[in-house]
Amino acid sequence: MFDWTSERERLAHALSDPIEQREIGGRDGREGALAVDARYRALVRTLPDTVVAVHDRELRGVSIDGGAVSWTDEMATGFDGRTLENILPPEEYVRLEPHYRAALDGHSTSTEYRHAKSGNVYSLEILPLREHEDGPVEGVFTVGRNISDQRQRTAEQSAVAELGVKALEGVPTQELVDEAVATVAETLGLDLCELLEMTDDRESLVPRGRFGWNDEPAHVRVGSSCYAGFALGAAKPVANGDYASDARFAPTPALARAGVAATAAVTVGSAARRLGVLAAHSRSPREFQPHELDFLQGIANVLAEAIARESAEAEMRHQALHDPLTGLPNRTFFVERLTQWLARAERGDRMAAVMFVDVDHFKIVNDALGHVRGDQLLQAVSRRLRAALRPSDTVARVGGDEFVVLCEDLDSQDEALTVAKRLSGALDDPFKVADHVHRVTASVGVAVWTPGATADDLMRDADAAMYRAKEGGRARCQLFHAGMRAWAENWFTIEDELRTALERGELSNVYQPIVDPANGRIAGFEALVRWYHPDRGTISPADFIPIAEQNGMIVEIGHRVLLEACEEAMRWSPLADGTELRISVNLSPRQLGDPGLVDSVTAVLKATCLPPERLSLEITESAFADDPARALHTLRNLKELGVDLELDDFGTGYSSLTYVRMFPIDALKIDRSFVQGVSDSPEDAAIVEAVISMGRALGVNVVAEGVESEEQSEVLQGLGCKLAQGFLFSRPVPAAALPELVARG
Ligand code: C2E
Ligand code: MG
Ligand code: MG
Repeated sequence: MFDWTSERERLAHALSDPIEQREIGGRDGREGALAVDARYRALVRTLPDTVVAVHDRELRGVSIDGGAVSWTDEMATGFDGRTLENILPPEEYVRLEPHYRAALDGHSTSTEYRHAKSGNVYSLEILPLREHEDGPVEGVFTVGRNISDQRQRTAEQSAVAELGVKALEGVPTQELVDEAVATVAETLGLDLCELLEMTDDRESLVPRGRFGWNDEPAHVRVGSSCYAGFALGAAKPVANGDYASDARFAPTPALARAGVAATAAVTVGSAARRLGVLAAHSRSPREFQPHELDFLQGIANVLAEAIARESAEAEMRHQALHDPLTGLPNRTFFVERLTQWLARAERGDRMAAVMFVDVDHFKIVNDALGHVRGDQLLQAVSRRLRAALRPSDTVARVGGDEFVVLCEDLDSQDEALTVAKRLSGALDDPFKVADHVHRVTASVGVAVWTPGATADDLMRDADAAMYRAKEGGRARCQLFHAGMRAWAENWFTIEDELRTALERGELSNVYQPIVDPANGRIAGFEALVRWYHPDRGTISPADFIPIAEQNGMIVEIGHRVLLEACEEAMRWSPLADGTELRISVNLSPRQLGDPGLVDSVTAVLKATCLPPERLSLEITESAFADDPARALHTLRNLKELGVDLELDDFGTGYSSLTYVRMFPIDALKIDRSFVQGVSDSPEDAAIVEAVISMGRALGVNVVAEGVESEEQSEVLQGLGCKLAQGFLFSRPVPAAALPELVARG
C-alpha cells in the first residue's frame, strides 16, 4: 500500500522548509510557498505513479509534475495559470471543487479522481498549502496516486472470493466452471479463457469450460509442448506475453486459429493430483502481472476444490452402485436398470430376459484357493461374463459367486437361451490364477419377461430357475417356467426351516444294516439322516440334503450325523464271533471340499474313541469332478486317519473306472437303479457283474444297494456279491431298534 502519511510529509516538508523555499523560490516571480523550481520538479518526477499539483488561492494551476507521465503531460499542457474549472472535466470539477475549497479553509480530505485514460484511477489527497506552519493558506497542494492496480487487485480478490462462496454453496461444478472462465476473461480484460480437464487416463486434456471461442473444442495431449503441457510441468503459473518473441511454448493450432498472441496458464489441482489447466489468452501481446497470475491461480484453486469434490461425489455414487471387487454394477444398480427397462417395455412390444448365473461349487474353490485367489478367480469370471455380453446388456454381481444379467431387446426366448449358453460357455476355458489352472462351471437360470411381471418377479424366477439348474446337476442353463415357482417356494421354505430344525434338534439318524446276502449276517450299518418336522412329519434327506448342500449347512449337519453315528456305533457289542460292526456315514461333495473335514473327522474319532477302521465314509463321484487333485489330497488325508472310503451310487455319475484306480477307495456301492434291474434286465445284470469282477480285480469290496427282492438277492449272490443293503433285509431303523437287530445277527 502507498504510505500517504510519509509521502505527504516528505513533500510538504520539502516545500515548506525555509531553506528549500529559498532555493526554489522566486523562479517565476512568485514568492513563498507557491514557488517551485527545477529541483523540486525533478524530485517529484521520480515518484512513480504519482502526480503532484500546486494551485494558488484562486485555484489556478502553478505546477504539475510526477511519475505518472502520460496523464501528467496531458494535464500539464496549459496547466499553469488556468483555473481548476478550466482544467477538469465538468463532472469532476463539481466533485473535486468542494475538496479544494475545504483545503483552502485549512481542512484537507482525500478523494478519488477518475481519469478516463487507459483504465487508470487516481486517488487524490488535497492539502492546504501554507507559507508558514500557522500562517494563512497560500494555495492547494495535491498529491495524486495511481491506484488502478490496487483497484484491479481488489476486483481480482473479490472475484475469487465470490466464486469460492458459490463453490461452497454447492453451485453445480459445470456452472462454476462456466462462470469462472467468463470472470477471468472479464476481470483481466482478455479475449479467451478455458478450463482444460485431465481425462481419466491422464493422457490428454479436454476443454470443460470456454469463454470467447468460436471453434470446436479440441483435446490437448498432456505431454505436449504447448501452454497446457508447460503449465502442468511447472510448479507455478506460466505466462507468455508474446508468442512472437517467447519460444518456451508454442501456440496450439487452436490458439493460432483464434489469433492468440499471449497466454497465461496455471495448473488446476495440487502437484500430487493435477486435475487440469486454467488458461487465459489475449489476441494482442500483453505482459501478465504477478498479481494477475495469482488471480488466475486463485480461480484455479476454487475450481480444483469443486472438481475434486465433484469427483469424490461421483466416486461415492459409483461405489454405492458398484461391487468393489469386480467393478461390476451391484444389485441396487441392476434393479434400477431393470425397473427402467420395464417402464419402457410397457410402451412397446419388447422382450428381455433376466439371468441368474451362479458359479458351481465356488465355496469349495474359494476355500481351497484362499480368499485372495478366490477373489482373483471371481474377477476373472466377471470379466468373461462381461465380455460374453453386448454392451447394452447389464451384468451385476449380487452375491459372493452370484451374477445377474439383464439382456435387453431380445427377439425370442430361444435367443435368451442362446445368450445363457454363451455365458456358461464363456467359462469353459480353464482359468489361470496364480499359476494354477482352475476349471469353473456355472448354473444359469433364465426368466423371460412377460407383460405384467415386475423386477422382483423376474429376479425371483431367474433365481428359481438357477436353483433348478443346480439341482439338475449344475453346469447347465435352465429356462424358468411357471411350475418352478412352487418348486422354488418349497426350496426356500425348507432352507428357512432347516436352520431352526438344526437348533431344535429335529435331525437324527436312522441306520440300515449292510449284510451278507447269503446268510443275512450283519457287517455294519449305514447312517442315514432324517428330519422329524413337527408339522410335516419325516422329511427325506433327498428333499433337504441338496438344499443344505447348496447353502453350505451340510457341513454342520454332516458333522452332527457323523458324531451321532460314531457314538451309536460305540454302543454296539461285537457279534458272537467277535466281529466288530462297522458304521458307514455319507459325505456330500461340499463336505469333501470343506478344508475343516479332516479335522472334524479326527475330532469325532477322538471324542467317541471309535477305532477308525470301524468307520467308512461314503462319497459320490461328483465330489471329485470339480477338482480331482484336491479331492485326492483330502481322501489321502482321510485314509491316513485309518478310515475306509466307499464310492456311493456307483454307476450313476461319471462312473469313471479311473477314479477307482486313482483314488484310495476301499469299496464300491452299486447304485440301486442297477440292482433293481439285475433280475430282469440283462443289461443291468451285465453292468453289475462287470462292477463286481472289476472290484475283485482291484481288491475293492462291492456293496449292492437297494435290494428289495429275493430274486435280486439270488442273482447278486450268483454274481459273487458279498455285501448288500436293502429293504429285503431291513429298512433303515431308529437307533433304539438296533440292539435287537444286532442280537438277531
Ligand atoms: P444313499 O447314501 O445311497 O442311501 C441309500 C438310500 O437308499 C437311502 O435313502 C435308503 O433309505 C435307500 N434305500 C435303502 N434300501 C433301499 C431299498 O431297498 N429300496 C429303496 N427304494 N431304497 C432303499 P435315504 O435315507 O432317503 O437317503 C437318500 C440319500 O440321501 C442317500 O443316498 C444319501 O445320498 C443322502 N443322505 C442320507 N443321509 C445323509 C447324510 O447323513 N449325509 C449326507 N451327506 N447325505 C445323506
Ligand atoms: Mg450312502
Ligand atoms: Mg447310495
